[in-house]
Formats: sequence, structure tokens, C-alpha cells
Amino acid sequence: MTNSKTVWQNPAEIIRETQPENPVLVFAPTVLQERARTFLEGFPGLVTYAVKSNPEEAVIQNLVTAGVQGFDVASPAEIDLIGRLAPRAARHYHNPVRSQSEIRQAVDAKIRAWSVDSMSELEKLLAHVPTEVDGEGVEISPRFKLPVLGAVYDFGSKFGAGPEYAAEMLKLVADRGYIPSLTFHPGTQCTDPIAWESYIKVAREICDMAGVRARRLNVGGGFPSHRVVGVEPDLASIFAEIGDTVAEAFGDDAPLLVCEPGRGLCADAYALITRVKAVRDGAAVFLNDGVYGGLAELPIIGNIDRIEVFDPQGNPRQGPPVGRVIFGPTCDSVDRLPGELSLPEDIAEGDYVIFQGAGAYSVVTNTRFNGFGALGHATVMSLA
Ligand SMILES: *Cc1c(COP(=O)(O)O)cnc(C)c1O
Repeated sequence: MTNSKTVWQNPAEIIRETQPENPVLVFAPTVLQERARTFLEGFPGLVTYAVKSNPEEAVIQNLVTAGVQGFDVASPAEIDLIGRLAPRAARHYHNPVRSQSEIRQAVDAKIRAWSVDSMSELEKLLAHVPTEVDGEGVEISPRFKLPVLGAVYDFGSKFGAGPEYAAEMLKLVADRGYIPSLTFHPGTQCTDPIAWESYIKVAREICDMAGVRARRLNVGGGFPSHRVVGVEPDLASIFAEIGDTVAEAFGDDAPLLVCEPGRGLCADAYALITRVKAVRDGAAVFLNDGVYGGLAELPIIGNIDRIEVFDPQGNPRQGPPVGRVIFGPTCDSVDRLPGELSLPEDIAEGDYVIFQGAGAYSVVTNTRFNGFGALGHATVMSLA
């Protein structure tokens, strides 16, 4: 965006005043800070932000301002980013597979919390990671998995050890003088708290098998954002279920809790403004953004249907909804949104389609494939 005005009222004002040719990701810091407070006040433990979901500096800064004191980082670059933007915050290096060089960089950066899901990778940590950093203990958390329940897609297919194996690692971690903790990640966009319940119960069994009391239990990310009309994320009941299940399973031995939301924190603080390039023969809609850009996730986890359509003057289209096939701008046939989306019948070339809740896994996965992907950024007071 070339306009010098830095904070807009809302996405409609951006459309009215600038008629952007390229897609624009619109960020509402107040919405992000409010969501951060919902987590900080509601979650019964430490809230850390999964940086990978949206590593924009403005996001990190607003989270710090709101009071977030920990970050889940997965690479030396993310470790450095948080070291620079939030030097006092905790950094949990929770990518369970790391090269020797990555381990050395993280040790140099004084990382004090690690996760692991195999003996081969644990051996690497035992060989290179000290048990204390600046007089404080270093935590290693075996990551365990269960057959998936409730998530939109299955993270367990890549990471996580079975419960017995996790127990073996937990015991070794404790025997070698590290702080023994446990971690899991139930998958992403889990709208049902059941996803956490079974994991928490199994965490207790792992501690019993290992004969080790876990200092902390990290219940992962997976908290839902508002993707679908009428299905609002019910974070309060998820927080309550997590707290209740931990109390029930562990009683007086309850570990301290940590969560690492990505999407649940950042997604709803953004909207994506796209433009209609063509309505081909009056049917399929071609947008200037698609699955190689800000909508990368949709084929994997499903459409966002919180959509508004505006004419170029910034007035909402009011026509009755009609199902349309939506294509992105590239010449690749996979550049298509899943199924159909309902759009106003009177949608026309040059109109704008706004996707609400588009802040997660969008800015950061945008590519320049086929010469598209020049993404504008704008800040707004409000997304509505
Ligand atoms: C990606 C990831 C997260 C964040 O997941 P969301 O579904 O965005 O909340 C949290 N923890 C780990 C280990 C991850 O890999």
C-alpha cells in the first residue's frame, strides 16, 4: 500500500480510498490484544505463542504489550526474532528434530526448554545441552501422541512418541538431571475440548509408568479461530475442560500448565482483502489471491466462509447468496478453493472479497509463484 495514512478505520475504508490492485492483509492490533487477554486471563497456566503461525513483528510486539511472556520457537531464526523483540520472554524450542548445528545455536542463545520425540534426538540433546543455564534448570519435554481426535488435521503423523516410549524418555531426562516435563500438540483448529482430555489423561499414565512427576505439562496449540459463520470458538469452555481434566487426573500432583496457541491467538486479528479479476462466463470467480498466497491453508483445513463482498466504492453487495467455484490467479489447476463458496449473486469484476479470520498461516506461507503474491499490509482500528 502506497498511501501514507498509517491506520485505517476498517477494510471498507481501505477499499473506498485506495482500490488496491494487490491483495492486502489487514491487521487489527486491538483485536489481537483482546484475544491475548482472553488467553492470559482464561487459560490456567503459562500462555506461549507459536511464532510459526504469524511471525510479523507487529504481532509479536502487540502480544508482548498485552502481557504474553513466552514463545514457542522452531528454528534458529525464530529464536533470534524473539530474542530481539522480546528479550525477557521464555523461548521453548519445541521442534523435536534438530540438526547438530541448530542445537549448538540454541545452546548459545541460552534456550532452557526443549521438546523431543525419539531416543536418537534425545541422545543429541543429552550430548550438547547443559542441565543448567545461568543457574536455572533446563527442561526437556518428551512429546507424545495419540490416535487423532477432534483436530482438523493430524500432527501426530509427523511428531510424537507413543506413551510407553515417552515414559522411557521422561525417565531418562529425569535421571540425567534435566527438568522432566511432557508436551503434546492435539492438532490444529480443535473446536471440541475432547481433543485435550484424552491427552491429559494419558500424560498421567506416562508419569506413572516412568515413576516421574512432570514439572510442567504443555497442552500444545490447536485452539480454534473463527473460520465458519455461526461456529464461534468457545475458548472459555476449552480452558475449563483442560483445568478440570488436569485436576481430576493428577490431583495434588498436578503439573504446571503451558499452552502454545498459534492460530487461536493471531487468526481473528486479520482480514484478507482480495479483488475479483474476472467472473468467467458469469460463473467461476477468479481472485487475485489463492492457495499460493494468503489462502494457502484452505485446501488443507477447509474454507473460511466469513466473507464479505464490496463494490469498488466500498459498499457491500447485497444480492442473494449463490454457490461459486473460486480460483486463484496462478495457472496451476490446484489453485482453487475447496468446494464452492456462497457469494452475492451480483458480484462483479473489480469487486473486493474480504476473508475474515485470515491471520494464521497466511502472511508467512505466501509465495511469489507465477509472479503473483505481492501482498500489501495495512493496519485498522476495526475489522468490521
Ligand atoms: C504449529 C504448532 C503449534 C500451533 O498450532 P495452532 O494450531 O496454530 O495453535 C503449537 N505447538 C506446536 C508444537 C506446533 O507445531
